[in-house]
Order: sequence, then C-alpha cells, then structure tokens
Amino acid sequence: MSRIVHLNGQFLPEEEARVSIFDRGFVFADGVYEVTAVVGGRFIDYDPHMERLNRSLRELDMGWPCSKDDLRAVHEDLVKHNGIDEGRVYMQVTRGVAERDFAYPKDTPTTLMAFTQLGPVIANPKAETGVAAISIPDIRWKRRDIKSIALLPQCMGKEQAARAGAYEALMVEDGHITEGTSSSAYIVKDGVVITRPLSNSILPGVTRRTLVRLAAEHQIRIEERLFTLEEVRGADEAFITSASSIVMPLVSIDGHTVGAGKPGPVAKRLRQVYLDAALAAA
Ligand code: PLP
Repeated sequence: MSRIVHLNGQFLPEEEARVSIFDRGFVFADGVYEVTAVVGGRFIDYDPHMERLNRSLRELDMGWPCSKDDLRAVHEDLVKHNGIDEGRVYMQVTRGVAERDFAYPKDTPTTLMAFTQLGPVIANPKAETGVAAISIPDIRWKRRDIKSIALLPQCMGKEQAARAGAYEALMVEDGHITEGTSSSAYIVKDGVVITRPLSNSILPGVTRRTLVRLAAEHQIRIEERLFTLEEVRGADEAFITSASSIVMPLVSIDGHTVGAGKPGPVAKRLRQVYLDAALAAA
C-alpha cells in the first residue's frame, strides 16, 4: 500500500503527488523544512519545530503556506491516514512555481509538501549499542541556522560516513566541531555535557533546545562552548541529538574508541529523561 502524502491542501497517494519542474525548490533548493518525530501517534516537540519553521521562513522572506492550525491538521491527518505509531513527518515549504530567475518572484504561492516515514524512535537498537562517527571538513554555507532544503554537503558527508561503515559525520571548521550532518553534537567530560553555542554556524536543534532544558531540570550541567576533534577523542562520552534519533551515543570517531566504547551513563540518562518527558507530554 502506498503512502498518503500531502501536497498544497490535498491528501493524495504518493504516486499522484506531482510538482512542476519550475518549482523553485527543484530549481534552486529555495525552500525550508522540518522533521517532527512521532511516538504513539503523537508528536514530540511539535511547537518548537513550528517556531523554527517560522524563523526559517522569515529569514528567507517566505510566507506561511497555510494557517498554523491547518499545518497542525496536515501533520495529524498524515499520521492518521498512514497509521504511524513510531516514525516522523517530513514537511517542506518552497517558494513555489515561477519562471527561472534568481531574485524572488512576487506574489507566487508557496508549495507545501509533507509525508510520513516509519522508523523506530523509542525502541531504536542503535541507541543500545551506540554508533560510529567519522570527521569531515564543514564545507557548508554561512547561514546554517536556516533549515534549508539545500543539503548536498550533508548528503556528501553522510555518504562518506556510510562508506566508512559509520552512522554520522561530525563536521569540523577552524579546528572545532560544528555539528553532525543531520544532528547536534556533544561530548561529556567529568560529568559536564559540552556543546557548541548557537550561532549562524549551526542549526538550532529542536532536540538540543529541549535537552538543554531537561538537563537543567535534572541537575546535569551543560556548558556551551567550542570543542575540538581531539576533545571528542579524549571525551568520557560523545553523543548526537536529532528529532529522529533523539539522543544517540557515539562510541567511536574515525576508528578511535570514545570513552568505554559503549553508550555512557550520561547519554543513556539523557535519552531516558527525554523519552519519559516526550511520552508524558503526548
Ligand atoms: N543539525 C543539523 C545540520 C541538522 O540537519 C539537524 C536535523 O536535521 C540537527 C542539527 C538536529 O536538529 P533537530 O534536533 O531539530 O532535529
């Protein structure tokens, strides 16, 4: 059975959803997106994802594709139509269909598209074992705070990771880790969680935002500062966060074991605290 997807106000079988070749998402990657995790048919961190969508749209002078209530209904209906218990909703807004011209077209309706993906969120076997990462240079643009659909550097990085048998690639700029190709990055040293401060150099992760709040509530210290690849190698623990993987322990970097080579106590605790809070809110 094919999925039911959403396109510009309509729910359609995925084979029937069609977008013009002149859509600026297709021609210029002129669009933004969000991915929201689903557990027990309910969303994790829905509101902060929509706040970040609002910010991405505003930074690019793009309008909302529909009302906030309608977008919530799109998310909920997709989950219902597709019977999603655990997985995620991907949604993107592009600047719409216009003659190819670099400057923004005037009064062109945006294109809204959304679909579901199944996948484990709570019972993720990778979180039990931890995953490997590699390091790569960060070759991206300078507005990484915008959740743009232009993701080719991240695709290249993820492909390099996959070829090395790793799950994620941590990107390095000026000697410091920026983030993972699709995740925020952290190390743990002497019980303190260290993560890069927010700026235009990284995406403001929604999972990061909730994690920082939950850590404070559970007396786990978080220090926001730059950290190096050497610090990852010498860390007691390392982990990444994202909507899809929540808290995912890293057990090696570039083939070097990190910490004990298995998920550490701080990452395990934060994952549990996160999932407990998400389930309680759902
Ligand atoms: N950093 C980058 C570059 C990402 O692409 C993502 C998620 O896709 C994240 C961080 C994590 O963000 P979130 O926790 O909102 O999923």
